[in-house]
Amino acid sequence: MSLRRDFDVVIAGGGLVGAACAALLTATPRTAALRVALIEPKPAQRPLKGDPIDLRVSALSHASCALLAAVGAWPRLLEREPCAYQRMIVWDSSGTATDSDALVFDAAEVSEADLGHIAENRAIAAALIERAVAGGTVLLDTPLTGLELSPELARLSLGERRLNAGLLIAADGADSPARGFAGLAVEGSAYPQEAVVAHLTPTEAHRHAARQRFLPDGPLALLPLADGRVSLVWSTAPAHAEALLALEDAAFGDAVTLASDAVIGALEASGPRARFALRRFQAQRYVATRFALVGDAAHTVHPLAGQGVNQGFLDAGRLVEELGAALGRGEDPGDARGLGRYARARRAENALVGAALDGLWHLFADPRAGVRRVRRKGLGLVNRAGPLKRFFVGHALGR
Ligand SMILES: Cc1cc2nc3c(=O)[nH]c(=O)nc-3n(C[C@H](O)[C@H](O)[C@H](O)COP(=O)(O)OP(=O)(O)OC[C@H]3O[C@@H](n4cnc5c(N)ncnc54)[C@H](O)[C@@H]3O)c2cc1C
Repeated sequence: MSLRRDFDVVIAGGGLVGAACAALLTATPRTAALRVALIEPKPAQRPLKGDPIDLRVSALSHASCALLAAVGAWPRLLEREPCAYQRMIVWDSSGTATDSDALVFDAAEVSEADLGHIAENRAIAAALIERAVAGGTVLLDTPLTGLELSPELARLSLGERRLNAGLLIAADGADSPARGFAGLAVEGSAYPQEAVVAHLTPTEAHRHAARQRFLPDGPLALLPLADGRVSLVWSTAPAHAEALLALEDAAFGDAVTLASDAVIGALEASGPRARFALRRFQAQRYVATRFALVGDAAHTVHPLAGQGVNQGFLDAGRLVEELGAALGRGEDPGDARGLGRYARARRAENALVGAALDGLWHLFADPRAGVRRVRRKGLGLVNRAGPLKRFFVGHALGR
């Protein structure tokens, strides 16, 4: 039995979070000498200049933007003009976006130029993969099909091919095959909602504000895009989501205009739409022998606060920091002590964020009139209470 390692670290999944792990490993001085491979069957292709903005976009916190800058991916992303958003307006459908009970976060209130950027998922992943490969990461396009973990090695199967690694990082998404191979269980449940996404053109300027209206069926968010359009994320009952996808463009635009209370005028729809099942879960354990989970493979949350990628990037940052620290102490990067420190820190933080978002979701899903009144007043209260508001803005920035 050979104990030869083909790679020190192999990452399964080159979506946003796996690509961030690879780019961070190569850009961090302490881990830069590690031999790293990234397994991704469908690596993101960089959108070309002039390509329309992709359907999948993410609201990135300051911490996420800083990570992209630290690994050298930000300049490449700038070519796709990520849209800075300077305000966030949240309101309940029993009120309006302009009344005193609407919650308004303004970057200027925390002496920042913006609250974050809306960027295309494909462009982010492609920029990160480009940096990782430039730093020596080997890109493999055959999916991970099997895994055996032992104290000495992670033995990987990629179809017919066998590879040995010192550590396998599983970043292969919410249905993570690697998590299954490692036998790690998850706890959580599905939301009775799906998210409908589309880009629409408003008749009024979005003025770099992200808006979210809480409807009885779920939250509807409009995120500003650099081309003047807005990106819709409308969480609603699955049957309604299906019906929305089947509508003609004009009827779909009318439905979103009505549901958004025409907050930026009438919305015109054209181009693709998609819907996504929503669930919240967390892996019971983030690590096993020579194995670590990151990103959606470890946890998913409701998209109502746009936190999934941001949490995943924080996982990537913390894991690479612990691997670097382990190397600094002369330990093997797959050593259980460093992995344990990563797991304790990130699992606790992600559990807190998941529970907070789930609580918010339940609060807004409650149809009782008394609860509606209280939450509407609650939003207004947060809006007027300076320290509480600064706390929420700080969290949204990823501080
Ligand atoms: C509608 C919607 C809106 C959202 N908006 C935001 C937002 O504004 N901000 C935010 O922070 N988050 C947002 N999120 C969450 C965010 O999209 C996810 O958290 C994020 O995409 C997770 O990235 P990931 O890299 O962990 O997983 P994924 O993006 O799922 O990537 C997993 C990768 O693993 C690969 N893979 C799968 N199987 C294998 C295998 N066997 N071997 C090798 N590779 C494999 C896949 O090809 C894929 O590329 C949103 C989610 C939804 C549904």
